[in-house]
This record gives sequence, structure tokens and C-alpha cells, in this order.
Amino acid sequence: MNSSYALALDSVTKIHGTGRQAVTALNEVTMSVPHGTFTAIMGPSGSGKSTFLHCAAGLDTPTNGEVTLGDTRLTGLNEEQLTEIRRQRVGFVFQTYNLLDPLTVADNVGLPYRLAGAPVPTGRVRAALADVGLADMGERRPGQLSGGQRQRVAIARALITGPDVIFADEPTGALDTRTGRQILHLLREVVDRSGQTVVMVTHDPVAASHADSVTFLADGRLAGELTGPTPEKVADRMTRLGEW
Ligand code: ADP
Ligand code: MG
Repeated sequence: MNSSYALALDSVTKIHGTGRQAVTALNEVTMSVPHGTFTAIMGPSGSGKSTFLHCAAGLDTPTNGEVTLGDTRLTGLNEEQLTEIRRQRVGFVFQTYNLLDPLTVADNVGLPYRLAGAPVPTGRVRAALADVGLADMGERRPGQLSGGQRQRVAIARALITGPDVIFADEPTGALDTRTGRQILHLLREVVDRSGQTVVMVTHDPVAASHADSVTFLADGRLAGELTGPTPEKVADRMTRLGEW
């Protein structure tokens, strides 16, 4: 694999369960994501999007095939090594923010360091909060913020370690349309300004249109790619992939 990619999957298959219960959630998926790009993953319900994200981020192990994150092959790493990768080399942004309410905003952003038992670089925390437009919010609790502000905190936390890839799973799913657009613009900015790499699962063609390219999944297989997506083109492809 080539380290010019932030993420590469080589013939990745994931089978959930065994015997009669076995479900092939990913079927020989090969794709690569260049550094500093914004990729959307789309597909009908059950097409393997979540399984893709979990395998790509080291949260789950493929049945077959190779995942390479930056310079590191995930295949064959033990659980301790994978935990370290998840803390230091990937960032996560979830639909429901996943912030810790008892901690301040600044402590939430510094959490990846605390979990690793490392000193929290307070200057970086401040810079990350400023980057997402929350420079004065560090001492608040997540419960005192709006949904859009909470998602900004989650993005700051995802950014802080300078990960190879930020994985976002329906990051605008819990937000109203206008706030959702602001979060998509922020993710776009994170890529354009900081050269970060973002991989986002979404079912929303407008959200996907903020990406550089869209990768489609159907029945666990790659079902095409669209560069320079517009909402109309994305919706048209999705319609042809079946109900969504
Ligand atoms: P999506 O996120 O696109 O809806 P998923 O990756 O969640 O798709 O699921 C893909 C397929 O794998 C579906 O058929 C789903 O039922 C199945 N699946 C997902 N996770 C599991 C699991 N832990 N055990 C068994 N089957 C699963
Ligand atoms: Mg899913």
C-alpha cells in the first residue's frame, strides 16, 4: 500500500455471524482515500456503510482483506495496538456528539490525551476550540451548548491529535437544516484549511455534495463513485441503487 493515501482498503470482506446466520456486510471492497480530501459514503439502509466505517477505523476487524491507515496496516495488530490507533490516529464525529457531560468543553476536547495518560496540551485545546468557532466556550459544560455547538466540540476533539482520518457518521443527522449546513461547511473548512482527511457516512444528498467525491455501496459491494457531486446527481444515483 502507498502512504500517499490516508486510508486504503484492499479487498475487504466482513461477514457478521457464522453458519446460517452469516451476513456478508462488506464484499471485497477496494478503495483508497488521498490525504486532504473529503469523501462521502452513501448507500441504501443495510448496504454496509456502518460496517465500512468500523472496519476502516479499526473498531472492527475484517474477515478478509487489508485496511491501511496512513502508513500502518491494521491487519494483525493486537487489541492494545488498535486501541492506540483509535485514540491517536483517527477522530470520530457521531450523530449524537458523544460528549461527556460532567466534563467542561475544554476537557472534552483534551480527552484523547487524558485517555492516553499524556499531559493535555492546553494551547492545542485552545487552538482547536478557536478553529471551530468556540474560542470562549472552554469552561462551559456540553449541556449548556446548542446541538450545533456540541457538534463543533466533537469536531475539535476529533481534530486535536492530528489524526490520519476523521470519520463522521451522519454528523448532521440530529441537527436542523441550517445548523447542519454550518457543520458541513466546517468539515469542508477542516479539509481545505488544515489538510485533514474526512470520511463521512450520510444518507443526505445535500450533505454528500459538500464532499470531493462520493463512494456508493449496495449490498456490501462498491457500486460506483461520483466526483464533483451535486445534490441532484447524488440523488439520481441513489434512486438507481434502490430504495433509501
Ligand atoms: P448500513 O450502515 O448501510 O445500514 P450495516 O453495515 O449496518 O449497513 O449492515 C450491513 C449488513 O450487515 C446488514 O444486512 C446488517 O443487518 C448486517 N449486520 C450489521 N452488523 C451486524 C452484526 N453485528 N451482526 C449481524 N449482522 C450485522
Ligand atoms: Mg448504518
